[in-house]
Amino acid sequence: MTTHQRNFPSIDPTKLERLAETAVRVGLRLQPGQDLFLTAPVAALPLARLIVEQAYKAGAGLVTPIFSDEEIALSRFRFAPEASFDRAPGWLYEGVARAFAANTARLAIVGEDPMLLAEADPAKVARANKANSIAYQPALEKIAGFDINWNIVAYPTVSWAKRVFPGDEDEVAAGKLAEAIFAASRVDGDDPVAAWTAHNSALGRRTEWLNSKKFHALHYSGPGTDLTIGLADGHDWQGGAATAKNGITCNPNIPTEEVFTTPHARRVDGHVVSTKPLSYQGTLIDGIAVRFEAGRIVEATAARGEDVLRKVLDSDEGAARLGEVALVPHSSPISKSGLMFFNTLFDENAACHIAIGQCYAKCFVDGDKLTPEEIAARGGNKSMIHIDWMIGSDRIDIDGFDANGARTPVFRKGEWA
Ligand code: ZN
Ligand code: ZN
Repeated sequence: MTTHQRNFPSIDPTKLERLAETAVRVGLRLQPGQDLFLTAPVAALPLARLIVEQAYKAGAGLVTPIFSDEEIALSRFRFAPEASFDRAPGWLYEGVARAFAANTARLAIVGEDPMLLAEADPAKVARANKANSIAYQPALEKIAGFDINWNIVAYPTVSWAKRVFPGDEDEVAAGKLAEAIFAASRVDGDDPVAAWTAHNSALGRRTEWLNSKKFHALHYSGPGTDLTIGLADGHDWQGGAATAKNGITCNPNIPTEEVFTTPHARRVDGHVVSTKPLSYQGTLIDGIAVRFEAGRIVEATAARGEDVLRKVLDSDEGAARLGEVALVPHSSPISKSGLMFFNTLFDENAACHIAIGQCYAKCFVDGDKLTPEEIAARGGNKSMIHIDWMIGSDRIDIDGFDANGARTPVFRKGEWA
């Protein structure tokens, strides 16, 4: 075993086991006989092993893991021939899509170095990302359409921990990131399953209130931000546990603090600035400022990573339109930790955010019965990308407007009004 594969003593083994159990029993709600497709960085092997053990104990049929490695990923950008950056393993993703069609559950362990590709050629990174997004589309459709139960959970790899705690030794940094992950994932208490039940019902009360209001649009105001986001016709707010089309109620993200819905792809106007950096496939994009007209981003700048941002916005017709709007109070536990994780799974749960690209079909009333054409007609966006970025802070106010223009305060100074 290499140092990458051992669990530092600073990573509490009891909490790590609870995280594995929570991922399988709460995150996935894996069913007896159900197959599982698992992806993880090699450095997350200790958690991957515990998850596979929990999966089989829960009655999993067949668990199929695929591991990635940072050095191998970098090798490509250093040595692969120029023409290869427009290619991706479509054969693999077609197989994954077939597995999802046959009711295989999906679990991803994240923990890669968020700045892994910072030194790589941005043009090659953009081409590789685009080729990968196109090839991944058949599988992504089944995840975005919520055909099956899926879950993302995090492991404190050293390369990631050193980005969050750059001043600490490897083992100390990994231990600190582990504690932050365990707290955010609600596995630091004795009964994580009960903690998640309580958390899911709290999020459920928020979505019930928002759904009862049937807002036509949300208006955001704050420093550098004056933005109106129209909400899709027949949109449905969701948060916490949700039921996939295969009938299984799962918690796709661990952690999660957000309630979210589908904005109207053609009714977004005004300007907005990002409030936290965004780590996109190994590149850090920071200081984003964009202006929307009739739903489309017509001006975009970034203090860092602008090149990558522009290429992302050019990916396809829907890449410059919104696919998600999410509300997270500034006092969320992840926000209170004060940490910048450089990982969307965590950072998106520290602040209100929006996502450019693909919308979630499940964020419509009776979304599972709508055709792609009906979703588009209601204002749902279509794209091969889905990228969240943070626009919330303790200085943001949000109002909800009904179709007649009547105003209801939703957020004041970053908190539920
Ligand atoms: Zn989100
Ligand atoms: Zn999102």
